[in-house]
Amino acid sequence: MTQALANHPAGVTLLTPESSSKEIIDHCKALAQRFKERAAHHDRTREFPVQNFTEIRQSGLLSLMVPREFGGLGADFQTYTKAIEQIAMGDASTALAFNMHNIAAGTLAEARTDTLTGKRAEVLENFKLWAFNEIVVNQKIFASANSEPGVGAHFSKLKTTYKKVNGGFEITGLKSWVSMAGHADYYVTTARKEGVDSKFPDLSFFVIEASNPAIRIEEVWDTLGMRSTCTNMMHLEKVLVPDEHLFLGTQGLGILKVVREPHWTIAGYVGVYLGLCAASFEFMCDYLKSRNKPGTDEPVAHSDWIQHRVGELAMSMEACRTVVYDAARQVDENPGAPETNEAVHRSKYMAGELGPHMASQAMRLCGGSTIAKRLPLERFYRDSRCGGLMPATSDECLLFLGKSALGFDMTRVDESYW
Ligand SMILES: Cc1cc2nc3c(=O)[nH]c(=O)nc-3n(C[C@H](O)[C@H](O)[C@H](O)COP(=O)(O)OP(=O)(O)OC[C@H]3O[C@@H](n4cnc5c(N)ncnc54)[C@H](O)[C@@H]3O)c2cc1C
Repeated sequence: MTQALANHPAGVTLLTPESSSKEIIDHCKALAQRFKERAAHHDRTREFPVQNFTEIRQSGLLSLMVPREFGGLGADFQTYTKAIEQIAMGDASTALAFNMHNIAAGTLAEARTDTLTGKRAEVLENFKLWAFNEIVVNQKIFASANSEPGVGAHFSKLKTTYKKVNGGFEITGLKSWVSMAGHADYYVTTARKEGVDSKFPDLSFFVIEASNPAIRIEEVWDTLGMRSTCTNMMHLEKVLVPDEHLFLGTQGLGILKVVREPHWTIAGYVGVYLGLCAASFEFMCDYLKSRNKPGTDEPVAHSDWIQHRVGELAMSMEACRTVVYDAARQVDENPGAPETNEAVHRSKYMAGELGPHMASQAMRLCGGSTIAKRLPLERFYRDSRCGGLMPATSDECLLFLGKSALGFDMTRVDESYW
């Protein structure tokens, strides 16, 4: 039994390391029913869904990606994708924000100490113990602060810098697009080594405590969709991070990690946007079943042309789901393999593009009333439009797949769009 497991507070969680994949997914489905009731309010006010995260915390879900030997639920990528899909069906903003936490936990869960020797293995093991303990026992939330103004998530172009100082690192820069800014307990932040003037930066990840006095959150988030993610700016002015909070315990691996094993940076979102496709599709079917053709007693759903169009969308829905689940399976079985990375980009493209199409088609079939704010479809439309803008953007997915098909070596940093 690890330290984290031994300290796990008894009776706090509903989900436990013994919970099956199905129990986790079912639990997320049940949570989503409650999130659904609050989603319109959060969308309208841009308030962070604090109560949703309280319920995520209480149910033990913060430990979703933490390995069982550290007291977590030990979900694999397939379980994760299906779980986050369910949450997104209730509230996509909550799911997207929660994904940022899981990017940190999931990336760390994959880091293996058995391939390292001596001090490096010990440093990584100690980092894992600390971070997983923070999640499992102290119920802390981690955010991902990578993107920057004018750079987006293009890791090779990031401008934030770090330098080594006595006992740790000093980081200076500006991060834009930090979901959960002002609400997370820690920010996993990328920075390039100061003074290294090469084409590809010496990039490392650091964990910054929310209480660090040298960070300042600037509230700027007022957007078309994903409105309650509180994706704000974070100013970093000589932020001191202790040696022990170097993410993964290693400097300089950042860019290679993102290029060669991009699944957490890309595919984590995919379940969220798949959930939005499913939410639009489900809404559309329920709505069509509940309405009559104008001036008749005949249900709209009995119309041939409606059935035909719904059939088309049902096919797209299942094709997308199959591609997404298959990519998740490949991540579990062969993470970082060229064919896995292709599957990941394919799934990101499909879910990112189908979302707005599905919501738009659902509006077309269901009619004008569905643009009303009292119905969720217009929110699904707005939220799903964000999918293709997140890394890898739809065009970057196509670029990757095209280059890959043409025989380019996509494990090379200089071939990547990052
Ligand atoms: C809801 C939401 C939540 C997010 N949460 C987070 C978060 O928690 N943490 C985080 O780090 N990031 C987050 N992001 C940011 C995300 O990861 C991306 O950084 C962001 O969506 C990309 O921003 P961009 O389009 O401004 O930048 P870019 O992708 O850099 O695009 C800028 C412009 O340049 C153009 N362009 C890009 N590449 C090229 C090229 N090679 N040639 C010519 N033109 C090009 C694009 O078309 C675009 O017009 C979030 C984004 C969203 C939408």
